[in-house]
Amino acid sequence: MLNLVIFGPPGCGKGTQSARIANKYGLMHLSSGDLLRNEIEKGSDLGNHVKHYVEKGFLVPDSIILKKVYKNTIRFINSAGIIFDGFPRSLVQAVMLDKFLNKKGLNLNMVIHMLVDRSELFNRLTGRAEDSGRKDDTEQIFRVRMRVYEKQTHCLKEYYSAQNKILQVNGMAPVEEVSAKIANAIDYYREKNEVFSDVI
Ligand code: ADP
Repeated sequence: MLNLVIFGPPGCGKGTQSARIANKYGLMHLSSGDLLRNEIEKGSDLGNHVKHYVEKGFLVPDSIILKKVYKNTIRFINSAGIIFDGFPRSLVQAVMLDKFLNKKGLNLNMVIHMLVDRSELFNRLTGRAEDSGRKDDTEQIFRVRMRVYEKQTHCLKEYYSAQNKILQVNGMAPVEEVSAKIANAIDYYREKNEVFSDVI
């Protein structure tokens, strides 16, 4: 299996890139945000429970997201691989994911860290708000999500760097260019079993 994680600040393009990579390499796209929004839309108990966290821009409790991700990972275990999009989002989640995968005899191969300037993120999200209809795509909630990212998620960089798994990608380039660079790095990894150390 080829198991990847993609993370970065809100609006960095991880959803778009995940879909493109999943398509190119036949991977399963596991988006924690989509899983949660789906539950909210259905009006399930879980959806009603997480609604306020998601709409206010806070992380939902680890126990909820972990259960959901484990269940879906098991569903995808015989696939070509999984791209985890939006998960893990904290150190606890990262450690738990490693433990879970190890128990199943699996591991993460590469962790894609998307780099985008704050002003660009803000422009993208306010632009997206009109189409996405997402309640968390407002200026105020964007600020909360940014703060949550900096406080709880950005530390994943150190965690995965220590495992030599971090691929840093300049996410300011056009979508196709970013995808091509990531694909290059994936092909390189498959050939050499090594992650590019430079920012691409
Ligand atoms: P974005 O990265 O653009 O902010 P996502 O779709 O990845 O959007 O996530 C939307 C929201 O869903 C988050 O702000 C958070 O409330 C919730 N969420 C998604 N993934 C997780 C996670 N791994 N842990 C906790 N909460 C999560």
